[in-house]
Amino acid sequence: MFCSRCGALVIPTRSSSGETVFKCAACGQSQSSKTGEDYTIEHKISHSDRDMTVVLESLNELDQLPTAKVGCPKCGHSQASYWQSQVQADDEAPTLFYRCRRCGLTFREHA
Ligand SMILES: [Zn+2]
Ligand SMILES: [Zn+2]
Repeated sequence: MFCSRCGALVIPTRSSSGETVFKCAACGQSQSSKTGEDYTIEHKISHSDRDMTVVLESLNELDQLPTAKVGCPKCGHSQASYWQSQVQADDEAPTLFYRCRRCGLTFREHA
C-alpha cells in the first residue's frame, strides 16, 4: 500500500472510531482502505478459530465417552466416563478405564 499523493509506503493505524486508516509517514496523507480492513479482520478470525478448535477438541473428547454407573473410589460419585484400554494381550480381557465425572480421577475396573 502506497501513498496516493507522494508514493511513499503508508502504515495502517487505528482511528478513534475503530476504522483502519492508512497514514503516510512521509507527508501525513491518510486514507481509509478496504484492503487494510480485510487484512485486520482476516488476522483476527484465523487467530480465534485456532483457539476455538483447541477448546472444542478437548470438550468433544470427554463428551464422546460413554458414561457408566460406577462408584468413584475417591469422592464416591456414581457417574464415570469409561473407555477400553488400547493396548492388550490377545489372551487377556480388555481393561476398562473410568474417569470420574465429578473429580476427574481415572481408575481401572474393579477386578
Ligand atoms: Zn505521502
Ligand atoms: Zn470422583
